Amino acid sequence: MNSLTKLFCETEYFGDSIRYTEDAHAQRHGTTAGHGPVVVWNITRTCNLHCIHCYSDSDSVHYAGELTTEEAVAFLQDLAGFHVPALLISGGEPLMRRDFFDLLAEAQRLGLRVTISTNGTLITPDVAKKFQQYGVSYVGISLDGIGEVNDYFRGQPGAFERALRGIRNCVDAGQRAGLRFTLNRHNYESLPGILDVIEKEHIDRACFYHLAYSGRGRGIMGDDLGRAETRAALDLLIRRTIDWHERGMTKEILTVDNHADPIYAYLWAKEHMPERAPRILELVRRNGGNRSGIAIADVDFTGNVHPDQFSMNHTVGNIREKPFSEIWRSDVPLLADLRRRKELLHGRCATCQWLPVCNGNLRVRAEAATGDYWASDPACYLTDEEIASSPLAPRQPAAGAGVAGD
Ligand code: SF4
Repeated sequence: MNSLTKLFCETEYFGDSIRYTEDAHAQRHGTTAGHGPVVVWNITRTCNLHCIHCYSDSDSVHYAGELTTEEAVAFLQDLAGFHVPALLISGGEPLMRRDFFDLLAEAQRLGLRVTISTNGTLITPDVAKKFQQYGVSYVGISLDGIGEVNDYFRGQPGAFERALRGIRNCVDAGQRAGLRFTLNRHNYESLPGILDVIEKEHIDRACFYHLAYSGRGRGIMGDDLGRAETRAALDLLIRRTIDWHERGMTKEILTVDNHADPIYAYLWAKEHMPERAPRILELVRRNGGNRSGIAIADVDFTGNVHPDQFSMNHTVGNIREKPFSEIWRSDVPLLADLRRRKELLHGRCATCQWLPVCNGNLRVRAEAATGDYWASDPACYLTDEEIASSPLAPRQPAAGAGVAGD
């Protein structure tokens, strides 16, 4: 995650301590020294909606093999012992799982910091109050456009109104909640409207996701934004973040799943806010870019462990056979490769002078677009000129890294 608020306004939220701590980029098995990774847990695959870009390819059916309550509790205990800094409960739709609140209670008892990623349509005032009681630190609710644009994405008429009501119920209950928006060609023009909703509804956090070509998202990769559109979207987000801050509005604005964003933020600052650029450079150097298989992990509804939530086609173990903490500390081949990925990348990423800041971006997009897990990320929107130089120490491509083929 890339915090525009931190980069441009120097505010401090919980996640910033994970993202921008001095040694974040040097870790191999977690976010910071002594801590495990942020874990995304797809608690169920079942969902009441059918979103066209769903990375877990979920539907309104029961899927066999879900972890039992006992297995889920043992997993939570392992996470607490591994000192994971945050557990992100996702789905499917997490609220579709019968024992959801029992598991929340257990997570609270264990002192885990829990955030929930939900489509929001099932959040009644009672549910919002329960989130609060169980100490949920944040609820992220997906909205991918205004009105019918969102409903088209979510596969259900009325989903926009119901999700908005879910956000309002959280705000009314004093539960911190925010919005998740996945950028693509279908909703690009809704972006200014969504920013107005954030302001009007007093939503104090929003995450803008780039499209991950995974699950059903793979089927719509041709609908990803082009370079110019992505840059225009970032321009808008940066300007609005600064504007809100200058008007005294407390809002945390993040972009997610494209590690060219912090580089673009630095280049933007160099042009428009040169006094801020050195500090942005300092922060983005600390972060180290994409940390799938290092500081971010995914465990699916059957207990399979993946390098991140978008890489469900790559499994590195199962918590029914071995505790998650043991799997993550081991150097099983894919995790070992991700931890030394700079030597394996091809194409633009191999020679990019910003590689220490980006770390090759999202591998799943490279794989979906080319069939090669180590090819360049096709969603990199920086120009050849921009990646040819940086204020970082000059770097040579690793021995054996190719430039052909992508
Ligand atoms: S070329 Fe690769 S490493 Fe460089 S910014 Fe783009 S995606 Fe990141």
